[in-house]
Amino acid sequence: MTDIFDLLETADYENLIFSHDEATGLKAITCIHNTTLGPAIGGLRIWNYKTEEDAIIDAIRLAKGMTYKNAACGIYAGGAKTVMMIDPEKNPKSEEMMRAFGRFVEGMNGRYLTAEDVGSSEADMDYIYQETDYVLGTTMKPGTSGNPSPSTARGVYVGIKASCKQRYGSDDVKGKKMVVEGLGNVGFNVCKYLLEDGAEVYGTDINEKAIERAKEAGVKIIERDELYSFDADIYAPCALGATINDESIEQFKFDIVAGSANNQLKEEKHGQILKDKGILYAPDFIINAGGVIHCHDELFGGFNKERVAITVDGIYDQLLKVFKIAEEEDIPTSQAANKFAEDRIAKILKTKKIFARVNKSTIRR
Ligand code: NAD
Repeated sequence: MTDIFDLLETADYENLIFSHDEATGLKAITCIHNTTLGPAIGGLRIWNYKTEEDAIIDAIRLAKGMTYKNAACGIYAGGAKTVMMIDPEKNPKSEEMMRAFGRFVEGMNGRYLTAEDVGSSEADMDYIYQETDYVLGTTMKPGTSGNPSPSTARGVYVGIKASCKQRYGSDDVKGKKMVVEGLGNVGFNVCKYLLEDGAEVYGTDINEKAIERAKEAGVKIIERDELYSFDADIYAPCALGATINDESIEQFKFDIVAGSANNQLKEEKHGQILKDKGILYAPDFIINAGGVIHCHDELFGGFNKERVAITVDGIYDQLLKVFKIAEEEDIPTSQAANKFAEDRIAKILKTKKIFARVNKSTIRR
């Protein structure tokens, strides 16, 4: 078994919290990575983990990722993640399990706010909300934020424009040829924005319904196995992670990679390989931050569409800043994005040396 404190020392993690309830079968692990910028926000991932060790490793990896995403997009939140271990046959998720978890979240007293992630749903957030206010994306709370995908898509769209500005000197996408992988909630809406702007949009998916919908909107469909060698200016990964890997990267003829998927680089070295090939990479956690910006807005007296739109459109400038760091320091944009996030945290950390009697929280209850 891994030594837990050694693990926490690898990235200065704050908490690793095990929540257990025999009556409901709840087994959840919440990792709070860093709360310098505010309460830690991170989704609830529900998964059939083979071992506890797998669950712990996933929780800490994802929590750190959330710290970076939240810091870079300018919201007032730290990073965390919960993983819930279930067995769909013997111990499936249930109302009582969610409510037990909600009570544990309540006990964390606002250091952590949970939200939807892989395996959890809006209904699960509604169950959790019966026990705690520290949950985002429930349908029941007045001023709830609802589905974040449209904001994520908008952020990816402005991120593609910023990438064009950096690569071609103009952010006009008219006439640009682009290929979108995954025509789901985010990918489809990205296609719509680009079609409206006169881009030539190609796409691929494994789901027939998604393909039909995209076709009707004017997307030209290509075969899945044509994708990585497709002759396009821009590739937008909007399906799965790790699609930038040794096999795919060899085939790339793109100028830009900019899409919504999380963890697009299979390994850190692929950021360097993209740079060496002269391909501009819009780091995933910067360009896909629209969703967390959307959910986080609930904390300020209820969701405000206009305020969210302004911050989401700010992804354009955030990306240009990251590209500038990469240029100045001659490093891959993926590394520059990490530096950008770390820099904001370091600056705010310095203010903590000033004594304040009340530690103002961004959470309004
Ligand atoms: P989604 O499930 O609505 O859409 C994903 C689409 O990808 C589906 O249509 C699916 O059929 C397709 N797909 C799956 N495997 C594929 C493959 N091998 N090749 C081609 N297509 C494939 O999901 P979404 O909400 O649109 O999210 C897309 C990506 O963006 C995910 O990686 C998600 O983690 C990430 N993301 C989403 C949000 C959000 O707000 N929804 C926020 C941040 C990041």
